[in-house]
Amino acid sequence: MRIVVDLPRCQGYAQCVFLAPEVFELHGEETLLYDPAVPDEQLDRVRQAAAACPVQAILVGEQVSAGAR
Ligand code: SF4
Repeated sequence: MRIVVDLPRCQGYAQCVFLAPEVFELHGEETLLYDPAVPDEQLDRVRQAAAACPVQAILVGEQVSAGAR
């Protein structure tokens, strides 16, 4: 499953890092690194992370193409 993080929107709250540490990683205070190709076993965690993101910066799967306009 593909994901996209809208990095300019991301505020570095790190909710996603806590919920899916194998996919999201925070370098320094505000630089988020992530793996855009999420393995199936991480998908539930990534969906939780997307739901928990305070600024809705994480787009998952079907939202990726819709959000990339
Ligand atoms: S939870 Fe959202 S705002 Fe926080 S680091 Fe992750 S993507 Fe960025």
